[in-house]
Amino acid sequence: MAIKITDECINCGACEPECPNNAIYEAAEEWKFSEGTSLTGNIVLLSGKEYNANESQEPIDDEVYFIVADKCTECKGFHDEPQCAAVCPVDCCVPDDENEETEAQLIVKQQFLHKK
Ligand code: SF4
Ligand code: SF4
Repeated sequence: MAIKITDECINCGACEPECPNNAIYEAAEEWKFSEGTSLTGNIVLLSGKEYNANESQEPIDDEVYFIVADKCTECKGFHDEPQCAAVCPVDCCVPDDENEETEAQLIVKQQFLHKK
């Protein structure tokens, strides 16, 4: 499943540069699917949702850092464990129960985000 950041976050910024999918953003920051991925133009996610990868999307949280669940692969395909959780000083990067995925689904998602 994806990882999420809880409101315990102290906005230290340590996690953001560690994410191999550029799925972590600062509070109130707009984000794009194209950032840190090979996605561009019109895309259809595995869930069926459609986006323009180059278009800015609304921030998901205005108070603390947030993770875009559709860009988080739990670091599968890159690392053995979630890098954000590994560096977070207050342990507020936790499994997102609302976005449960199997390891196989996460690998497919990683390949979708980083098409060769
Ligand atoms: Fe990024 Fe990995 Fe954290 Fe997901 S688990 S947000 S891919 S660093
Ligand atoms: Fe927040 Fe933890 Fe990321 Fe720091 S490392 S910004 S406390 S989620």
